Amino acid sequence: MKYCKICLQTDTRPGISFRKDGICSACDYRSKEFQEIDWLERQKQLKAIVDWAKETSKGGYDCVIGVSGGKDSTFQAFYAKEQLGLNVLLVNVAPDNLTDVGRQNLENLVQKGFDLVSFRPNPVVMKKLTRQSFLKYGNPVKPSEYPLFAVPYQTAMMYKAPLIIWGENVAITLGVTKLGISGDALNVLGHNTLEGIESKDYWLHDDLVLTDLLPYKFPEVHALRKNHKAIYLNYYAREWGWKNNTDFSVSKGLKGREDRPELTGRINPYNSVDGDIQIVNQMIKYYKLGFGFVTDEVCYYIREGVMSRNEAIDLVEKHDGKCGELFIEEFCKYIDITVDEFWSHMDKHVNKKLFYKNAFGKWIPKFKVGDDFEERED
Ligand SMILES: [Zn+2]
Repeated sequence: MKYCKICLQTDTRPGISFRKDGICSACDYRSKEFQEIDWLERQKQLKAIVDWAKETSKGGYDCVIGVSGGKDSTFQAFYAKEQLGLNVLLVNVAPDNLTDVGRQNLENLVQKGFDLVSFRPNPVVMKKLTRQSFLKYGNPVKPSEYPLFAVPYQTAMMYKAPLIIWGENVAITLGVTKLGISGDALNVLGHNTLEGIESKDYWLHDDLVLTDLLPYKFPEVHALRKNHKAIYLNYYAREWGWKNNTDFSVSKGLKGREDRPELTGRINPYNSVDGDIQIVNQMIKYYKLGFGFVTDEVCYYIREGVMSRNEAIDLVEKHDGKCGELFIEEFCKYIDITVDEFWSHMDKHVNKKLFYKNAFGKWIPKFKVGDDFEERED
């Protein structure tokens, strides 16, 4: 496992690429950002898209934005309304077991002056898919990601809103280069987290039929392209950033989690505030790939110049991959397995080249954060 020489990105992230000098693609983009990108030109491109949307909507909604009420979607909603002057329709796809603070944040956002469509996928179907996805693939959040992407597209078509605005192109922020550095979000359909949508095997089991899966189904890209555009805001707006979005959204009333980093495995309390399964998922990711959510967080902070690599290493060592037992118990109850069954399934998914089991049956990292490590199974 190799670490980027600037941030703490590892080469175990699927789709990541590194330069020969050991710099990851996200840092490579960041270093170019201030020298080579013509932000005025990008603003011009954005203005042309915004003008097109206003003209096309003919007095209806100009754009749809999928929101959880967290730091990024709060920033997006205000940016679209106040900076771009768009008539915005927000769409929320509520998770099962929505947290109180998540509910408050969404309400806070709407109270600031937005129309909101709420969508709740059938929880019986969601639970079956989540259970299956964890047991088979060790990924409990994959099914819930589909409606987050599909429903805003479906809503835009339904309301004839020409533009869909997303936040981050992860090719830019995480360096998953196969997605391509572009502002066009329709490019992403069929890539990465969205892979598998065509595979009926993934979805159809446990009594589910195709009509159970409507919120999980993307509109055809060709049909979308006829009357719609979809963009990534971070491609066009220089202000977009981890720290900026947090500070901006807090100033608009965003509330964070109150649990401690050793329970949530994250240092910024304003992330994934609406549900707890992400916390379990990030711990699983840590055991599969050798990095969890704190690594992602500190990489943003390093690139934005608000944290040194050494400070970051310290935080990752302390908190990465952590997940309070309560969250695991909640999750097991939700998918109807015991905690013992959870850990015996985890044994299958832990990367044995990166972790070993100690005498107490706990998985321990073989690597030291920030130091390149030769993976070996022993
Ligand atoms: Zn890097």
